[in-house]
Amino acid sequence: LPGIVSLLGMMVDTHTHLNFKAFEDDWGEVVGRALAAGVETMIVVGTNLELSRRAVELGEQHPALFASVGIHPHHARQYITSGASLDTSATLENDKDEILKSIQDDIERVRELAKSERVVAIGEVGLDKHEYKNSKYQMSNVKNDFELLFELQKQLLTEQIELAVAVDKPLILHSREVGDEVLNEISKFKFQNSKLNGVFHCFEGSKKYVRKILDAGFYVSFTGNVTYSQGVGEVAAEVPLERLLLETDCPYMTPTPHRGKRNEPAHVELIARSHAKSRGMEFNDLVWQTRANARELFGL
Ligand SMILES: [Zn+2]
Ligand SMILES: [Zn+2]
Repeated sequence: LPGIVSLLGMMVDTHTHLNFKAFEDDWGEVVGRALAAGVETMIVVGTNLELSRRAVELGEQHPALFASVGIHPHHARQYITSGASLDTSATLENDKDEILKSIQDDIERVRELAKSERVVAIGEVGLDKHEYKNSKYQMSNVKNDFELLFELQKQLLTEQIELAVAVDKPLILHSREVGDEVLNEISKFKFQNSKLNGVFHCFEGSKKYVRKILDAGFYVSFTGNVTYSQGVGEVAAEVPLERLLLETDCPYMTPTPHRGKRNEPAHVELIARSHAKSRGMEFNDLVWQTRANARELFGL
């Protein structure tokens, strides 16, 4: 019986980075394997302007691919002008008007990209205080720099929430080590515009936080982390089926038993099976309902 869903092809991987370098050489084969594994649709998620452009390009090249466009909080750093070293916070303060202006310019470019009929969401956007050691995203240890970077992240988030409202598209939200702050930012808009919706992706927060997110009307998705983290699995089981979405976040967050290798959309089946098992329900029923959820939220 496991072949039935594969034949129908009903899984929706709502969060892939097929636009990343990791898939540059073989994205076509990767998509082929996903379709063969029963994946119907994949959303390619942008993280900066260039990768958002690439997401739209892929969406226009393959009928199973849709795009999301936006600027990820990691990329707040890029707006700090090259003239200002991270050690000279005073210079950064002087440059702030210029920085805010270039953020607004880029949001206008995202708005242009969002006009493509392949674009189904704005994202990924959000806040992230995780210390990415030895990577280009590493936050400076200087307190003022950290504060400015976080302020720029908030600016990017706010501008893109406004954009989502303006173009009437849902948000794909990234929230890491920032407590309730992403929800707090959105709540300001949610009350003004009850149609604003979205998904908290790669969720890793507490049961208490997921409850708040659900109460605010949002969807939640979990990656391969449900297959190897008992804590995440327990939070996932709290999410009503009508609010759950499937995602891989490939090439990252590879589920068991492929950990350590590049993740790809075909592995979304392992994530769906893990959800179905912990909920004590049929795999096919879980796939059917999460597909309906994705179609509802993203208008697929
Ligand atoms: Zn993310
Ligand atoms: Zn992502």
